[in-house]
Amino acid sequence: MPQTGYETHGGWTTLEEELTFLSALASEHGHVDVSLMGYSFGGVETYLARMSYPTPQGSESKPAILLLNGVHGLIEAGNREGCFLVFRDMAESDDPDVIQFLTDHVILFIPSFNGDGIKNGTYENVANVNLNRKWWLLDMPENRMVAPLFRDYDIIWASDGHGHNGSGVNRPELEIGVPTNRNVDQAVRDATITMVEDVIFPGVQAHGYTTGYFPSGLHNAQDAKNAWGLRHVPNILIETDRTTSVQHQTELNYALYTVILSHLVDNASTFYNAKREAESRAAAETESLYLPDSRWDNPATWNTVSPTPKAYKLTASQRSTVDYHFDVLGISGTFGGVNLNQKSRQAIFLLVDPQAHEPQVSASRSATQLSDSPPDGSVVLRPEPESLVLYPEGHLDGTPQPDDAPPVFQTSPPTSVRAGQVYVYNGVVTDADGDPITVTLEEGPDWLTLTDHGDGTFTLEGTAPNE
Ligand SMILES: [Zn+2]
Repeated sequence: MPQTGYETHGGWTTLEEELTFLSALASEHGHVDVSLMGYSFGGVETYLARMSYPTPQGSESKPAILLLNGVHGLIEAGNREGCFLVFRDMAESDDPDVIQFLTDHVILFIPSFNGDGIKNGTYENVANVNLNRKWWLLDMPENRMVAPLFRDYDIIWASDGHGHNGSGVNRPELEIGVPTNRNVDQAVRDATITMVEDVIFPGVQAHGYTTGYFPSGLHNAQDAKNAWGLRHVPNILIETDRTTSVQHQTELNYALYTVILSHLVDNASTFYNAKREAESRAAAETESLYLPDSRWDNPATWNTVSPTPKAYKLTASQRSTVDYHFDVLGISGTFGGVNLNQKSRQAIFLLVDPQAHEPQVSASRSATQLSDSPPDGSVVLRPEPESLVLYPEGHLDGTPQPDDAPPVFQTSPPTSVRAGQVYVYNGVVTDADGDPITVTLEEGPDWLTLTDHGDGTFTLEGTAPNE
């Protein structure tokens, strides 16, 4: 049976011991694998272990459980140590319920999210950044490694492991935080609270430990509990007393994660359903949107956005700024912006609304939905030889040739014309390499004709038909 570093020498498991342990589990059990996810800011290899029958391959379509540890390095390593043992228990279990659960689900285990902190014994990564403030900005490589897992897997439950320093002021040995931001769907929050109060607290108390809620924390989207909650994932922040011995912390967390996994084995559908309910409610736009510091646990802070927007208009440059977030959050943009009638509704709001806590861009609210296709009268141009498409807003989408700058439209055509009116537009295209420019009309209404003047200027003209 593979042993952890703690079991071998009584101290925290090192990164080398972690890889040896997980690799040994994977070689003994076909339903376990371990893969390199990426590198920390400081270049430390970061691993993802998975477990699912008959093999984790292809498990992306299954409901997933995410166990993430080591956010604050070896300073808060009790959860990581306990999780190793529970992960091994699950791998070696011959309990039919566990096997069925692992057939229907996949467990994702990231022991050392902050590889720099595990390697160097620090709270931050080597950029001196607290990674639990970066789950919304996603500007650190560690968070960027994990964020797409929420897109690529159907994560229905997650935990983020930490340690607290509160024994001196009588904090309980185990504290749990739940999503607090008011934009997190009530089904997600309720499913989480019910598990904490009905299962985790009594289950861990039965092992002789004291429990309570985590008293502070963030209420905007920066930290894991809210950033993940806004993705409709029931999840908890775990804080165990980090001032006790390695043995005490390991045993406490072993008990805790055993309680958690035992419950999930029998009750995962509760969380699956909560996530689906939240997603469909978001798409139906039945809930208000709340300014980012509105807290579920403090109604005095509730501050609704009124009127509730139906969409946001994004310029081409705003759109390219949020492209990464749209990608990992599974957000569908439209021509000229983004509509809110989709499951990532709350996330869109907190990404682009000027009143969000840390908006990626300050987009303008729209009281009506935006069209998915270019508006009537739109003009799509494709200059040769490089492939380049211009939409009326000036959205530029092209594939530059190697070592060659594509031609650039210096002007944007008007996007609308009244029925029966003459439309004339003189445009300019430049090419930094001085290549000859040919402008042709690739797509557009029949009544519009393009005249290429051969020097980078062109005219589009026609008379718009009556309705
Ligand atoms: Zn922490």
